[in-house]
Amino acid sequence: MKTEAEIQQVSKTGTKQAEEYVHKVFNQVKDVYGHESEFLQAVEEVFESLIPVFSKEQKYQDQAILERIAEPERIISFRVPWVDDKHQIQVNRGYRVQFNSAIGPYKGGLRFHPSVNQSIIKFLGFEQIFKNSLTGQPIGGGKGGSDFDPKGKSDQEIMRFCQSFMTELMKHIGPDTDVPAGDIGVGAREIGFMFGQYKRLRGAYEAGVLTGKNPVSGGSLGRKEATGYGTVYFVDEMIRDKGMSFDGSQVVVSGSGNVSIYAMEKAMELGGKVVACSDSQGYIVDYNGICLDTVKQLKEVEYKRIKEYTHHHPDAHYFEDGEGIWSVPCDIALPCATQNELDELGAKILVANGVKAVGEGANMPSTKAAVDIFQQNNVLFAPGKAANAGGVAVSALEMAQNSMRLSWTLEEVDEKLKDIMKDIFESAKSEAANYGHDDNLVIGANIAGFKKVADTMISQGVI
Ligand code: GLU
Repeated sequence: MKTEAEIQQVSKTGTKQAEEYVHKVFNQVKDVYGHESEFLQAVEEVFESLIPVFSKEQKYQDQAILERIAEPERIISFRVPWVDDKHQIQVNRGYRVQFNSAIGPYKGGLRFHPSVNQSIIKFLGFEQIFKNSLTGQPIGGGKGGSDFDPKGKSDQEIMRFCQSFMTELMKHIGPDTDVPAGDIGVGAREIGFMFGQYKRLRGAYEAGVLTGKNPVSGGSLGRKEATGYGTVYFVDEMIRDKGMSFDGSQVVVSGSGNVSIYAMEKAMELGGKVVACSDSQGYIVDYNGICLDTVKQLKEVEYKRIKEYTHHHPDAHYFEDGEGIWSVPCDIALPCATQNELDELGAKILVANGVKAVGEGANMPSTKAAVDIFQQNNVLFAPGKAANAGGVAVSALEMAQNSMRLSWTLEEVDEKLKDIMKDIFESAKSEAANYGHDDNLVIGANIAGFKKVADTMISQGVI
């Protein structure tokens, strides 16, 4: 029999050895991709949180799983030429990163935003592997997009861009290979234009090649709402587990795009009072409670700036500085805009103002330093990979409906979404506890997402 001290020593050795393995592989990734800062940030966060797994299980090291999982199976980058309304030729860059297909066809959105580059698409694709695994659906990880800026473009320009983008992308995707969807700058309008072009080039109606379609072309009911609703369902599970609820809480939601709008809608439905939201130029505060009809009209119909909200609601205030939104006191903060929008300073201000829970609707909206501040101050923290998985989960439900050639009602889809978010919360919570990190959902979600993919990779051999 080993003494208690010897057992402790063995487990310390295991941890030390696991740390060395993780740091060795991370440094290899850094040597090759040192210039891809967002990608490295995402890799570092996942790798660090997996140390407890590697210290208990040797097989992942023997099978070089980290070395393999951090390298995309394939990256496609291409030219996207198009003609603007002034008959000028424009050129953008297009990308599709097919990161990991262990558990299903590559699945993940397309982002159209001027900040898009290979690092951004790789960080998103890498996160997508674990997020998709957490949903329990058979979908691998991928992501794509372009540095095209849809802001201020006419419908015709958007259509011509989407058609050119799809003309190249169609060579690499299909219902059983890679299934793109929306993300920032890509909604049902863009998906519609891309689906039309795919159908025309392929000469076949393959509905399952894209998700987030308009329901008239085979889109799932409830897909538009799914990421925002799912985030609130997840946060609701997390806070109810600790005896809190949305009812009567003051809520701040950054962003005013698709994720933010439906996070606000569900938070309000559960009795929360949403007092602030934002866009990349500034934020609005309305202590009467944000009027969602106005935000929907401005953002979904007119494609206008959030600043215009004050023209409809003179009591509300507009501030020119998107990140200042974290100075608005709240019980629950939902960052739903974009990566690294919530830094250490924002986190400190939220904590000083008494925030109790933070749920990430966007992908990697909090910096590592911000997450550390929340965890040190016992703020309940729901990481994006888990909390915003509802969008892609309903995308997988859309794929299922397309292949069965039927459509579920909104209620059926919403019920499934709720169950999926509950399951994700429970598996993240239980993996965190299994590895001795109670209530640390960052560690729990990464471990739960990772193990399924890693075990499947091992079963498929060295590929
Ligand atoms: N872009 C979303 C995400 O970040 C959804 C992807 C999808 O539906 O495939 O998960």
